[in-house]
Amino acid sequence: MDSLFTYRKIDEKIISLLRSAIGDGNVSSDDEKLISFSHDEVPSSSYKGHYKAEALVFPESSNHVSEIMKIASENRIPVTPRGAGTGLSGGALPAFGGIVMSFEKMNRIIELDEKNLTVTVEPGVVTSEISKLAARHDLLYAGDPCSGDASFIGGNIAENAGGNKVIKYGATGAQVLALEVVLADGTVTWFGGKRRKDVTGLDFTHLIAGSEGILAIITKAVLKLLPLPRHSVDLLAAFPDPETAIAFVPQIIKKGGIIPASIEFMDKKALELVEKYLNNPVPASDAGAALIIQLEENDHDVLERQYEKIGALSKEHGASEVYVADTRSTKDRIWQTRKAIPEATSFFYDRYTKEDLVVPIDRVPDLLAKIKEVCLERNLQWVAYGHAGDGNMHCTVIGPDTEDWHEILLIVQKKIYSAVIEMGGTLSGEHGIGFKRKGFMKLFLDKKHLELIKSVKLAFDPGNILNPGKIVDWNE
Ligand SMILES: Cc1cc2nc3c(=O)[nH]c(=O)nc-3n(C[C@H](O)[C@H](O)[C@H](O)COP(=O)(O)OP(=O)(O)OC[C@H]3O[C@@H](n4cnc5c(N)ncnc54)[C@H](O)[C@@H]3O)c2cc1C
Repeated sequence: MDSLFTYRKIDEKIISLLRSAIGDGNVSSDDEKLISFSHDEVPSSSYKGHYKAEALVFPESSNHVSEIMKIASENRIPVTPRGAGTGLSGGALPAFGGIVMSFEKMNRIIELDEKNLTVTVEPGVVTSEISKLAARHDLLYAGDPCSGDASFIGGNIAENAGGNKVIKYGATGAQVLALEVVLADGTVTWFGGKRRKDVTGLDFTHLIAGSEGILAIITKAVLKLLPLPRHSVDLLAAFPDPETAIAFVPQIIKKGGIIPASIEFMDKKALELVEKYLNNPVPASDAGAALIIQLEENDHDVLERQYEKIGALSKEHGASEVYVADTRSTKDRIWQTRKAIPEATSFFYDRYTKEDLVVPIDRVPDLLAKIKEVCLERNLQWVAYGHAGDGNMHCTVIGPDTEDWHEILLIVQKKIYSAVIEMGGTLSGEHGIGFKRKGFMKLFLDKKHLELIKSVKLAFDPGNILNPGKIVDWNE
């Protein structure tokens, strides 16, 4: 096992090999830069150790990536691909030092193909740039993580990022038709194509999507585009408590007869926290819980009938108030509330764990009740919000101000996880396992499943140089 994780240290010789392969200006070993590229959005207080790369590389092309991987595989140097570093699982953290490969210079949108309704991009394109370009052509790129104004498409694909529109359009993986990848030995190859169907061999495109950089490096992606809905409305429904709000979620689809683009949930503490952070009143801040329901349509009259129906249904199912946002500024106000929750949490607290649990939708109230019970037992605070339409809750448990808070959070996590397993749920819906959650994988997946993950990893990367130390714990 040890030999799988024994790597060569980076010395002047390796730096000069990298420099001659991709250019002096694309390689750095500046200490301040190394530090800033050595973490993601998981608070560093979550880990007991510190992890730092030995060199940073900024490839400008697939060919550059291939040359770097040849040097890394010939010299047994670990390589951690890095997007924008907005990840919430420690995926871009260089657990064994080595090289961090940033894609900030591979940021071209290569082609928008209106005949095949596709867009081809490099991995360093900021996600919202793709949506903006598509919209200028009356098209929709449906991937929509809350971090879309910062995260890179390569990071979204590697995490199979979800976000606000999964209930209608699926997660990022569902938008991917093809990937150009560079394998651990430097081979450049394509999986998939501009095709809507493909059962020719195993579906490696969608194995790479969500593989968190441990199997291959994504250097280009062909993404699906859809017609851009002409009109949309956001409803903010205020409920007396989370149970009533969540019970309404399946009714929106069943009785409303439509699939909304988004159904997002915020509990009372989330609403209060954002109000304090923004220092401005937020809609429904006195409610026990709130849902944002986004509806889209091409025909304005149809949309109006839909939102009137969903508004009336909300009231029938216990909503005390329904706000309708149909202008840019009212919509922004609603979404600012939802999107500011993570920022507000990290602004007010240093020690917390943001969970990414998924349970069947009818068990979300049980999950919220369990979080409350476990946190109250330990006198801890918590905030709950998330993608209610997918049963994906970002329950954030705030650590106590004591030296043993790591141990306390661990006890709390284990209690919550065993309840989640009993509910038929899972550990992560969209943020991934990365470094942060790998120790809990054995609770959720059986031994055979974990062995298969390791076998697939070694089939793609026999030298274990691609993002080692992530997803599975090899000591177990
Ligand atoms: C405020 C906030 C809101 C968020 N909201 C959401 C949300 O709604 N939904 C959601 O799913 N996530 C969300 N996230 C988490 C995060 O933004 C996503 O996981 C995003 O996909 C990460 O993209 P990134 O470019 O920052 O990747 P990074 O964090 O840099 O990397 C993520 C992983 O991808 C790998 N990787 C990066 N580029 C490549 C590549 N080219 N090839 C192979 N592997 C690669 C890295 O090694 C790492 O394992 C949020 C985060 C924040 C801070």
